Amino acid sequence: ALRAEVEGWRGPGATADGLPVKLLANVADGDSAARAAQAPVQGVGLFRTELSFLNRSEEPSVEEQTEIYASVLRPFADAGHVVVRTLDAGSDKPIAFATHAGEENPALGVRGLRLAFDNPGLLERQLDGIAAAASETGVETWVMAPMVATVAEARDFAEQVRARGLKPGVMVEVPSAALLAHRMLEVVDFLSIGTNDLTQYTMAADRMATDLAHLTDPWQPAVLQLIAITAHAGTQAGKPVGVCGEAAADPLLACALVGMGVTSLSMAAAAVRAVGSQVGRVTQRQCEEAAEAALSADDPAGAREAVRGVLLG
Ligand code: PEP
Ligand code: MG
Repeated sequence: ALRAEVEGWRGPGATADGLPVKLLANVADGDSAARAAQAPVQGVGLFRTELSFLNRSEEPSVEEQTEIYASVLRPFADAGHVVVRTLDAGSDKPIAFATHAGEENPALGVRGLRLAFDNPGLLERQLDGIAAAASETGVETWVMAPMVATVAEARDFAEQVRARGLKPGVMVEVPSAALLAHRMLEVVDFLSIGTNDLTQYTMAADRMATDLAHLTDPWQPAVLQLIAITAHAGTQAGKPVGVCGEAAADPLLACALVGMGVTSLSMAAAAVRAVGSQVGRVTQRQCEEAAEAALSADDPAGAREAVRGVLLG
């Protein structure tokens, strides 16, 4: 019966008592965007642009970039907004024409937005391509930067995005950004929490290291605390705060995130029905109780058990 309920779930996302929760898709290219548009989502919460450049030796021209971005935007014409993430090169995603070679510790090196400041033309050309695709398709386009660590970085990025008539935001992937979420929201219009990297940097545990899986777990109470701080800042500022890391695809954790004040959940399209149906089975109050229970637990297992108790009785 549960399976039928999940498969039959049509959206839009909301708790049983009607609190809206935007459910969005994570996409990589035009094909995955077209497939995602068939799922019950209200748009794209994370378009990972760097995935289009992984096997390119040279930077694509602005015209070619425009075509790639437009192919992702087009399926969402009249079907919600699309959040485009600027190049997240470096560390686990080396890009031949951008990444610094020979870094001893690439996860802590020149990656994400840091590369853009190091090579300003690269970011400017990418923003030009995104702006051109947005005007060509007429799709509401938000633009966010990965790996932001300081308010000054967020301000600089936001100015460049606004100059092109688009809506700026930053990802919260570094603990410093979570701790200063309220200040970040003074300069940007939205935040999106990348729990994969936020967990890696909070726990000082490589997200690729399978023998550290007990640490790279978004149910770690320290990670949940940083998410709660970020979501609370969004509630106070009246601005959207989403989650676009793997955590958003876990139906029980998703409810706890909603209870913390997260306003959207972005995930692989295949996970949307299970998450939407679970969120729709519980009330906002239950989500808040789940958040409190998870935040008071000592470890991930305790947090999971406490949240199951609140949400599944
Ligand atoms: C994240 O870090 O959670 C995230 C969504 O970005 P990526 O997985 O692409 O690093
Ligand atoms: Mg990340």
